[in-house]
Amino acid sequence: MNYENVLTTCPYCGTGCNLYLQVLDKEIVGVLPCKEHPVSQGKLCIKGQSANEFITHKDRLKKPYIRVNGRLKEASWDDALGLVAKQLGKYGPSELAALSSAKSGNEDNYLMQKFTRVMLKTNSVDHCARL
Ligand code: SF4
Repeated sequence: MNYENVLTTCPYCGTGCNLYLQVLDKEIVGVLPCKEHPVSQGKLCIKGQSANEFITHKDRLKKPYIRVNGRLKEASWDDALGLVAKQLGKYGPSELAALSSAKSGNEDNYLMQKFTRVMLKTNSVDHCARL
């Protein structure tokens, strides 16, 4: 049996509490608060306390889906991203906007604003924490 606590950042909001994922034989089995972190100081809200549950939840989406005749069908990443690119290509910069998420990491949010400004050629990018 191999057990370790892996330090990471809670994914649920922009507060950025730190927590330990309890890993048993390469499977995440629980969450512990991190006493040393200056924000969370050994505490987690209810979302942080259950931050591991979505990882193995039965309803978690792991593959892309495309709606065909009103029904979702499993698709390849190439097909799903190709459809997104095709749909985005139908609109100009003044018709497009992007909304990012506090549940994503800083790096993901940086990429979203970069994609929006460089590829979609619009500054209409925002973040759910401001809504
Ligand atoms: S533990 Fe709660 S307050 Fe802290 S980052 Fe997670 S969701 Fe936000």
